[in-house]
Amino acid sequence: MIRIVGGGLAGSEAAWQAARRGVPVSLHEMRPVRSTAVHRTDRLAELVCSNSFRGDSLENAVGLLKEEMRRLGSLVMRVGDETRVPAGGALAVDRERFAAGVTAALEAEPLIAIHREEVQRIPEASAASPVVVATGPLTSPDLAAGLTALVGREQLYFFDAISPIVLADSIDRSRVFRASRRGRRERTKELAVGRTCGAGGEEEGDYLNCPMTPEEYHRFHAALTTAELAELHDFDRTPYFEGCLPIEVMAHRGVDTLRFGPMKPVGLTDPVTGRQPYAVVQLRQDNLAADHFSLVGFQTQLKWPEQRRVLRMIPGLEQAEFVRLGMIHRNTYINAPSLLAPTWQTRARPGLFIAGQVSGVEGYVESAASGLVAGLNAAALARGEEPRAPPRTTALGALAHYVSHADPSHYQPTNIAFGLIPVVAGAPRGRQARRRAVAERALADLAAWRGGDPEASAAAALQTGGAAQ
Ligand SMILES: Cc1cc2nc3c(=O)[nH]c(=O)nc-3n(C[C@H](O)[C@H](O)[C@H](O)COP(=O)(O)OP(=O)(O)OC[C@H]3O[C@@H](n4cnc5c(N)ncnc54)[C@H](O)[C@@H]3O)c2cc1C
Repeated sequence: MIRIVGGGLAGSEAAWQAARRGVPVSLHEMRPVRSTAVHRTDRLAELVCSNSFRGDSLENAVGLLKEEMRRLGSLVMRVGDETRVPAGGALAVDRERFAAGVTAALEAEPLIAIHREEVQRIPEASAASPVVVATGPLTSPDLAAGLTALVGREQLYFFDAISPIVLADSIDRSRVFRASRRGRRERTKELAVGRTCGAGGEEEGDYLNCPMTPEEYHRFHAALTTAELAELHDFDRTPYFEGCLPIEVMAHRGVDTLRFGPMKPVGLTDPVTGRQPYAVVQLRQDNLAADHFSLVGFQTQLKWPEQRRVLRMIPGLEQAEFVRLGMIHRNTYINAPSLLAPTWQTRARPGLFIAGQVSGVEGYVESAASGLVAGLNAAALARGEEPRAPPRTTALGALAHYVSHADPSHYQPTNIAFGLIPVVAGAPRGRQARRRAVAERALADLAAWRGGDPEASAAAALQTGGAAQ
């Protein structure tokens, strides 16, 4: 029997993987008995901010990671693919249907028992009864205290902030235009480290664009830099995550910072003027019904009345009704390299696994990916087999290697990136061709790694192509 604490993206995936390999799972999720500052439902695998799983091509590291997960029979990927909404080359999902689909699959799995309760201490773990802690960035305070004791030092925090969502009906369509950026492929750079909170790998797709003239932009910038901020409590001394800065922080850095960030107009032509606007706010469809749109890259910690006032200065959003406003939140994670093996086991207690955001990865897909490997290995351990790390040449293995081998004195949670995967010797010239070679090798090495795994073979047999083609 495996105990899994936390039914988010990592815990849900870990439970699925273990159960599919015949090991009973007891999955403990504290919602709805106790909620977090950002979850809103009692569903497993709830997406708390963006509805995007980012790029879906093999020339994109997170696309490769997703493809590897599909080939290992990932539940998160299966339901993600089933609930996708239009977002160009990115995989974005209908958040309601996604969480409902994952919850239904886990509830229907006979080997999984779901307990709705807060686990306040890290349970005893052994090889016969492994434990996976996957309590996420908003781990409850009691369990966080247990983690602190385990880590043996101060818990680490940093800020993150979430983007607002508006009701589609309340957008003035006469002022916005629908378009994707031109030439995105040539321009998109993959960040070695950093959440692309909202915008990550998703600059193409079906976006509504709110164009601004220089006058509108400067008025907006002035309002942003003078608006009132929400109170920050005990987190004031911790640094922001550079890949996910609040818009007002960017605005304070310089008058043009936003125009080179989430408001960049490059590649967009306003059909009314026939020209590139001075600045643009992009709105991305957030659910299948297309009645919710999120402001891409617009995470903010302004006070809520201030958010309404300032965001309604954006052309097209003058009458906007907000389904959700931006907010600030905590992110709790351990110093992974000093604690974890690439199998996601803790080095000190091999029966104890820590997975998901709290293990020091960054992002929905990376969290689910770590849960997948932790679930596989916890199942192996419970069956008396040796846990195995995925090959370093795969995206799964590269992420595991980073988490377990990065410099612990400067540890920062990471998204997957090609920079973490060893290059292919003698690969063809050109960035795309080199990435393609890395992806082909990764998928071959993954197949060899899971050669004897019937669940992985079945999933591979079901591959219909998608990103793999
Ligand atoms: C506000 C916010 C916005 C984010 N935005 C994005 C984004 O846009 N894109 C992106 O890729 N990533 C984003 N992330 C980062 C990260 O990808 C998500 O947090 C992701 O959900 C992490 O998955 P997880 O499984 O580790 O944690 P979660 O999905 O948070 O799951 C952890 C679960 O554990 C439960 N839990 C906590 N403590 C206990 C306990 N003691 N006992 C039982 N259950 C417990 C929680 O209720 C929760 O359901 C964001 C994170 C936050 C906090």
